[in-house]
Amino acid sequence: MKIHQLETFRTSVPLHTPFKTALRTVEVAEGIVVKLTCDDGTVGWGEAPPTVVITGDSLSSIEWAIQQVIKPAIIGKSLLNYEQLFQQLHSLLVRNSSAKAAVDMALYDCLSQHCNLPLYQFLGGYRHELETDYTVSVNSPKEMGEDAEAYVKQGFNVLKVKVGKDDIETDIKRIHEIRQRIGYDIKIRLDANQGWESKAAVKAIRKLEDLDLNIELVEQPVPAHDIEGLKRVTDGVDTLIMADESVFTPYQAFEVLKTRSADLINIKLMKAGGIYYAQKINDLAEVCGVECMVGSMIETRLGITAAAHFAASKKNVTRFDFDAPLMLAKDIVVGGIEYNGRMITMPTQPGLGIERVLV
Ligand code: MG
Repeated sequence: MKIHQLETFRTSVPLHTPFKTALRTVEVAEGIVVKLTCDDGTVGWGEAPPTVVITGDSLSSIEWAIQQVIKPAIIGKSLLNYEQLFQQLHSLLVRNSSAKAAVDMALYDCLSQHCNLPLYQFLGGYRHELETDYTVSVNSPKEMGEDAEAYVKQGFNVLKVKVGKDDIETDIKRIHEIRQRIGYDIKIRLDANQGWESKAAVKAIRKLEDLDLNIELVEQPVPAHDIEGLKRVTDGVDTLIMADESVFTPYQAFEVLKTRSADLINIKLMKAGGIYYAQKINDLAEVCGVECMVGSMIETRLGITAAAHFAASKKNVTRFDFDAPLMLAKDIVVGGIEYNGRMITMPTQPGLGIERVLV
């Protein structure tokens, strides 16, 4: 079973409501779709969105890395020595994690089809259903309160609230407004997307604790490079602290785990460069007693299907942030995971379970 062809396509899907974080506002989900064809006719799919303020990867750089560097190196190679393939994918060029992730997904899609198993079962098959949270974009406290109430009415039990864009007092007002409207039973996790500085973060989180606002966890309070600051926050508060932008690679995960700088890690295929390295990060974390969430960028149901397969396969992945496809105005994917409100069901077909992508 050899790799015969690798094609890339540009996609663009509008969001029904803009997605706003401390780092960026997204109105259109753009992406590069990868179609990998094997000599026996098996087709594998992958996807990578551009996230220049997070990964540094743009549409053009993803396309270039795949077409000019990855494709010439893997055409004609056998999928059955896949340890060689994935090792090569990660040593061909540094960084460019989104391009690697898109190709990695397509390789895993073909491999698990060859084994006649849905990908999540090929990887371990721990569970077949996941519950996603839903993100409340950063806006005025009043608007965020209204949005949160609407999502709870739609059936979501866990809200991920974006903060860190303005001053901390405004962030506290935001959470207060949301709690007033939705009560205290719904889980709230915060994501500051690197928007705070460590001492201010400790002060803010302690204040949220004093106000009994019942925050499940705070994601990436400080800038990505500031591991010491991340540790200062983790040590300085009772609330669980999750590393996101600070952990791209297995080695970065090892550094965070070794120094106990976070209580939890958010793994994204676009940061890790796909499932091969995402598994290594999860394994390291599990050995250290640190649970992982799997999240995503603003991706279509294609990229999220791959992330969900990985997340569903592992016991140590206990939180799921897969709301991106629910924000899109149209669906370009046939097959894949199915949403029923907050619940996601894994496909039963071999591979990713994607029949085709409308490219
Ligand atoms: Mg995050």
